[in-house]
Amino acid sequence: MIELTINTRHTSEMVDITEEVHEAVIKKGIKSGLVAVFTPHTTASIVLFENVDPKLRRDFLEALGRIAPAQHAYHHQGSNAAAHIKSAICGARVVVPMESAKLQLGKWQGIFLSEFDGPRERKVIVQVIHG
Ligand code: ZN
Repeated sequence: MIELTINTRHTSEMVDITEEVHEAVIKKGIKSGLVAVFTPHTTASIVLFENVDPKLRRDFLEALGRIAPAQHAYHHQGSNAAAHIKSAICGARVVVPMESAKLQLGKWQGIFLSEFDGPRERKVIVQVIHG
């Protein structure tokens, strides 16, 4: 198991962690398999997203904000109900095939940690199922 630490810098943001994930797996000498990327948090997510246009990340975060607005009469006692809801919608993991030491992502795909209640130190767990 590989554990990465990602420090987010904003309340809400998407951090491209594709290179960190790839390098960590390569360092372990692993060249093929299914790469599972997981985050053990309830106010952050792991998603595949378009990796070129930062404005599109902003569009995505704003779209989630329309589903779960910051200001709303939530029942949750903390102030972060919206972040929990966004995290549940987006999910905590992705699985990416790797072959010949390359993640088999599409040209426009990147692996992102989505922060919904930052800034914080976030843990990302990477595990490879060999194949
Ligand atoms: Zn909470």
